[in-house]
Amino acid sequence: MNCTVVISGGGPAGLMLASELGMAGVDTVVLEKEHDRETGSNLRSTMLHARAVDLLERRGLMERIGRDAFVKWPLIHFANFWLDLQPLLEHEYSLIVPQTHTVSVLEERAREVGADIRRGHELTGVTQDEDGVTVHVRSGGEEYRIDARYLVGCDGEDSAVRRLAGFEAPQSGITWYGVLADYENASAEPASPTYPGGLFARTPHPYKQGWVRTMTMELGVDAPGPEVPVTVEELRTAAERITGEKQELGPPTWAYRYTNRTRLAARYRDGRVFLAGDAAHVHYFAAGHGVSTGLHDAVNLGWKLAAEVRGQAPAGLLDTYQTERHAVGRRACVSAEAQLALLHPPERVAPLRELFEELVRFPDVNRHLVGVITDVRYPFEHTGATAHPLLGAPVPDAPLKTADGETTLAATLRNGRGVVLDLRDGSGGISRWEDRVDLVAATPVAGLDAARLLVRPDGHVAWVDADGTDDEGLRTALTTWFGAPADEQEAL
Ligand SMILES: Cc1cc2nc3c(=O)[nH]c(=O)nc-3n(C[C@H](O)[C@H](O)[C@H](O)COP(=O)(O)OP(=O)(O)OC[C@H]3O[C@@H](n4cnc5c(N)ncnc54)[C@H](O)[C@@H]3O)c2cc1C
Repeated sequence: MNCTVVISGGGPAGLMLASELGMAGVDTVVLEKEHDRETGSNLRSTMLHARAVDLLERRGLMERIGRDAFVKWPLIHFANFWLDLQPLLEHEYSLIVPQTHTVSVLEERAREVGADIRRGHELTGVTQDEDGVTVHVRSGGEEYRIDARYLVGCDGEDSAVRRLAGFEAPQSGITWYGVLADYENASAEPASPTYPGGLFARTPHPYKQGWVRTMTMELGVDAPGPEVPVTVEELRTAAERITGEKQELGPPTWAYRYTNRTRLAARYRDGRVFLAGDAAHVHYFAAGHGVSTGLHDAVNLGWKLAAEVRGQAPAGLLDTYQTERHAVGRRACVSAEAQLALLHPPERVAPLRELFEELVRFPDVNRHLVGVITDVRYPFEHTGATAHPLLGAPVPDAPLKTADGETTLAATLRNGRGVVLDLRDGSGGISRWEDRVDLVAATPVAGLDAARLLVRPDGHVAWVDADGTDDEGLRTALTTWFGAPADEQEAL
């Protein structure tokens, strides 16, 4: 074997996974076909979803991204209706931060923890057998192969891994199509107006001072093929079709065409090959949560794959990646399709939109729709854990008082290990799993209705002890998620 895990794609999902694996000591190669970080899909996204902010906070990465250097936006859109995040989420805002910046922070982190990131290296072939995966790579006219134990396709909406490894990913819904174009020294309008024919925005560039970005977006219109270069004519006629008005648009400095339909891989795992991020699920960029979903895929898979590589994973742990994340990807696709149904064709949906506009003003409807986009709770009841409102949910952040001083619940997850939070006497009960799980003893936390919690490395609550007496339950939960205790594993 040349390495343990190969990741195809150095976008947000691939680099987050590389960081997780690196933190867990798994040697990882990331293949990224683009030489430059500031090209391709990294240029299109501008918003980090509230749930992505939560996740990056738990890994200490928001400090590096610079949470206070960017605009915090307390709204998300649902079919072009605005929903209010304010009363609902831990981080009650989306951060307006360019994807190139997020990617540069993730890449720096992944390199620090030992990932071998190869820019300008394109995955061109995949075969797998019971023992491993062979990956073929092209770089600068040279071809070479890597033998690895696992391969993860994080290579975006047109994933080469998905195609070459034979994953089914049927398309559904209608096409969405648009052009992003950047201009130096142009004039912007702060709003992003929508028209019955789609969206045409001319806004200050998200990260180039004095530049302007235009964006068109139409539903149900077929784009020219990928071999056809984007032209100013294409951009102008799209803008005129959408607005119904003449548009003066000169040649842009940079232009990028995006087009797709909803696509969900039928499976996220085939033997030793996995999919994550847009490779697994791509949908209308409703509510701007594509990056967030991909980051959460990566963090869900990372610790499980690392446990498998170390030989500590309990049977079936790796398969929970599929059960947990496919359901989330499916939900995102359903939500996106529902939004498309509220947008197109405009003349048909107009009466529905009029009624929906009234509905979203009800706080409960706002809450429910925000939840559709943001809430992720895994069904852990099958593990035997006692039902509790926190079970399966992301652990909420809270200030903690420990014998070593003050910290936060989010900070206890920084190293990507499991955590038992003991809010009673601190005696814990984890000594036989100490190689995988940290014990954090703290004084009781207001609003956290529990004596002990087991939190998985991805931040989801795997077990709750309401009164602090369920030692047997803790042992079962630790074995379920982290495998046999160290002394029994050594004896195997
Ligand atoms: C117009 C538009 C606006 C959007 N805005 C937002 C937003 O504001 N917020 C948000 O969260 N999401 C947004 N999205 C969605 C977001 O851009 C994607 O969900 C996100 O980039 C997916 O991340 P990823 O890592 O899965 O894939 P990608 O970012 O697509 O990364 C995949 C990487 O794989 C590389 N690659 C591909 N093939 C190979 C190969 N064979 N070998 C090696 N490398 C390969 C690519 O070069 C690329 O770098 C937007 C999408 C569009 C179209």
